Amino acid sequence: MQIALTGAASGIGAATVGRLKAAGHHVTAFDIAEPAGVDRWLPVDLSDMDAIADATAQVAGPFDALILNAGLPPRADNAVELLTVNVFGLMAAARALEPKLAPGASIVATASRAGEHWRQNLPQVKALMGLTGPAALPDFVAANQIDPLRAYCLSKEAVVVWTLRQTERLLAKNMRANCVSPSAVDTPILGDFKAALGERAAHSLARVGRAGQPDEIAALIAFLAGPESGWVRGQNVTVDGGMTAMALCDE
Ligand code: NAD
Repeated sequence: MQIALTGAASGIGAATVGRLKAAGHHVTAFDIAEPAGVDRWLPVDLSDMDAIADATAQVAGPFDALILNAGLPPRADNAVELLTVNVFGLMAAARALEPKLAPGASIVATASRAGEHWRQNLPQVKALMGLTGPAALPDFVAANQIDPLRAYCLSKEAVVVWTLRQTERLLAKNMRANCVSPSAVDTPILGDFKAALGERAAHSLARVGRAGQPDEIAALIAFLAGPESGWVRGQNVTVDGGMTAMALCDE
């Protein structure tokens, strides 16, 4: 298969590249940093919508799968940058690359368990997704008093909603989209989540016993990207070591 992937240089994306290459696929990567082991790297800052247009214009496809994995964690004062990359960068890359997808193609987005409350927060998610573009984000963030942790949750709620919303439109084109929602995964940004969540992160991690390994998420992404998952459409698949199940049973 020909596969396009954002966020290929580190963590879950790098593990996904390893898995896809081991299975004999051709991988085209879009990342600000240089990924190892890919067939082609298009350097791009996914916070820059013009750069996304330029980088995606350089590839012809047709791609059998598009994996939208790049994302920023919450860090001091980064709500606007985070929402730009995680939401508008993702949607812009998808919009630009969809015409280059082959019939039957699969789109897989990386959301997060942090986006699990998307139903309760739907009005705010819709307001975010309805903005004209990233230029409107500073006012949106200020007006809604969105701190970096809330920005991260909101960005992943938006990824879930975006994915589900693609289902019927893509079906008419013989394509499909799904997203994966990991909880804590042992990548370079795990420390950012621990810092943002404090005790809550320590408690959740202690309860499931360990953080997930990048390849445990990559295995799910590779399955959803490939033809074996063809009847899986419009799903948000949680991979969290049992965290959600245990929290549900507490209720
Ligand atoms: P990571 O930092 O190891 O990898 C992120 C990748 O995205 C890197 O290759 C980075 O270069 C790229 N990237 C970041 N900003 C970019 C930009 N502006 N332009 C282009 N590329 C950019 O993180 P990870 O943990 O592997 O995260 C991958 C995805 O998984 C993210 O969407 C993240 O939100 C999500 N996620 C991670 C965890 C976790 O605990 N690690 C949990 C749930 C969801």
